[in-house]
Amino acid sequence: MKELSREQLLDIAKSPKAAVRCSECSSLSCPGWISKPGYFDLSKLRIVGTLRIEGAQESWDEYHPDGTNFWSEDAPISIQHHPYNRSDILECGCCKKKFLHYTEYGGYYLDERIRELSAHFIV
Ligand SMILES: [Zn+2]
Repeated sequence: MKELSREQLLDIAKSPKAAVRCSECSSLSCPGWISKPGYFDLSKLRIVGTLRIEGAQESWDEYHPDGTNFWSEDAPISIQHHPYNRSDILECGCCKKKFLHYTEYGGYYLDERIRELSAHFIV
């Protein structure tokens, strides 16, 4: 999978998307992280690349200099920090909208999380 730099991520986030309301992904409303709704089929999105760096040390630190928290809709997207450092970038095949996606592994559960990729929040 293609490892993306911050610059590449910015380019992807700024790349044009269709302005129309998309029938494939408009059911996903996730300016901040959400657990992927059960009705949404992730295979509608295709993987563009990943922010995971092969062999990099795991880091669970989050980045919230302005008092945001993990779930904040305005939380910064810092690619060195959790959970962005383990996220893949997905694209809607229909409207080209981009999403961040990672899997949270709990003790007895697995939670797929998704957030819209907005260039505005990339730091
Ligand atoms: Zn779409």
